[in-house]
Amino acid sequence: MDEAIKNFNREIDAVSGAAFQSAKGGDENWNKILNSYGVAPLGDDIKTVLLNSEMKISRGAFPIELRKVYEKILIKHSSSGNPALDEAIRNFDIDAKIKSYYQKIKPFGGMNDIFKNASATITKYSQGMQKGKHSTMKCKNCGAPRLEEMQYDNCLFCGSILFEPA
Ligand SMILES: [Zn+2]
Repeated sequence: MDEAIKNFNREIDAVSGAAFQSAKGGDENWNKILNSYGVAPLGDDIKTVLLNSEMKISRGAFPIELRKVYEKILIKHSSSGNPALDEAIRNFDIDAKIKSYYQKIKPFGGMNDIFKNASATITKYSQGMQKGKHSTMKCKNCGAPRLEEMQYDNCLFCGSILFEPA
């Protein structure tokens, strides 16, 4: 493989690993990495909102912070004049990457998940029966609910775009 692509992949792997190794919701070491990429960590207020949301995590930095680092890495390696690297960058599916990272930091399911799924199904049925009562918008990428009391266009949890650009 092209050396430039190897370097790109290595950098992506390094920050993904660091995010995974981080304490739940970030820690000093992760903040240093954010800093080195010029990414500001989420504010404590947002972190508290996320930690209390239904998007439970058992470890690791928040997906949206990892996304911001990915974005910096993509920019850093773009316009290198290397067509193979350009293609690797074009094919880098940031939503899919962030989603699979989230799968890794989710609490280990077991029975809990089975019950959750069962109750989700029941909820779906009862919502169908009383249509239009509550339509909470959910992120297409990670499933996080959009908080109705806050205005924002990108998912707070994973950073995916919530609305199709007009
Ligand atoms: Zn999301």
